[in-house]
Amino acid sequence: MSSIFGPVPSRRLGRSLGIDVIPPKTCSFDCIYCESGPTTRLSVTRENFVDPSEILAELSAFLHLHPNATDVLTLSSAGEPTLYTGLGELIAAVKKTYPRFPLIVLTNGSLLWEPEVRRRLLKADRVVPSLDAVTTTVFRKINRPHPSLELEQIIEGMRAFRMEYKGQLHVEIALVSGVNDSPGELSALAHVIESIRPDKIELNTVVRPPARIGTQGLSDARMAWAASFFSSFNAEIVGVFETDKQDRGEEQIGLRIIETVERRPCTVAELAASLGVPENSVERESRKLQKQGKLNRLCFDGKLFLCPAE
Ligand code: SF4
Repeated sequence: MSSIFGPVPSRRLGRSLGIDVIPPKTCSFDCIYCESGPTTRLSVTRENFVDPSEILAELSAFLHLHPNATDVLTLSSAGEPTLYTGLGELIAAVKKTYPRFPLIVLTNGSLLWEPEVRRRLLKADRVVPSLDAVTTTVFRKINRPHPSLELEQIIEGMRAFRMEYKGQLHVEIALVSGVNDSPGELSALAHVIESIRPDKIELNTVVRPPARIGTQGLSDARMAWAASFFSSFNAEIVGVFETDKQDRGEEQIGLRIIETVERRPCTVAELAASLGVPENSVERESRKLQKQGKLNRLCFDGKLFLCPAE
C-alpha cells in the first residue's frame, strides 16, 4: 500500500495530505468509533515499518505532480503513528524539504509516557493527541487499549510532552453517545485537561461508519452542551469540511478514491472536494470500482459513504 494518501477531506485541517507509516491496522487502541475499522494487530511494540527515505521519495513524487493539492501534511494512519521508530527522522526530513507545509501528527497519545516517543515528535508543527476518557472504566470501554497501557501513565505522558514541546498542542476528544458524554466524565476530562495545558481542545464525534456497529455520535445540540464543560478553554467543535472548487486534475481518480477510503469512509461530495474533481467524476469512477468489487456503499447517520469492499 502507498504511504501517501488523499488529500483527505479533514473537518479540522481542510485538505490534508496523509502520510501513513503503519501497516493497517496496527494500533495500541481498538477504539469503538474508529473510522479505519477494527484493530487487527493490537500492539505497543515500536518498529521500523518502512525506511523514511522511501516515504520522502513518495511524497516528493506526489508534490511534484500536485504542488497545490494540499493545505497541510498530516502523519495519520489507519493505526498509531508513534509505533514507528523512524518517525523523528521522517518529520525532520519532511520539515527540511517542505518547510511551507504545516506538519501535523495525529496520535492516540498512548505512548507519550515514553521519552523517546516524545523526542521524535518535537519538530512537528502541531501534535494532536486524543484523550477520550479519564476514568479507567470509560477509557477501556471507548478505546479498548492494549492490556499493558495504564490511563494515568498516558495522562502523565501528555503533561510531560507539554513541558518539552514548543509547537501547537491540541487535545482531541471524541465523544460517543452514552459512553463518555456524562456530566461526570466531561467534568473530569476538563479537570485533567487543565493540568495538561494544551493550546486548544478539539471536540469531535462519530460522523463516519465506526468500527463497532451501534456506536453513535452526539447531536449538534448535545455537542454544544458538551462544549460548555470546556468553556474556560480554547475549545472548538470540529466543523464540517467545506468544498474547495479548485481543479487539480482527474488523473488516477479511481486509485486515489481507493487510497482515501481505505483510511476513512467518505461521501462522494467529500471526495470531490478533497480530490479537486467534479462530483459526477467521483460518482462515475466509484460506480466502476463498485462493479469491480473494490468499493461498497454504506449508509450511516443518513449519509451514504464509500468504503473499501470487505
Ligand atoms: S481511532 Fe486512532 S487510536 Fe483509535 S483504533 Fe483507530 S487508529 Fe487507533
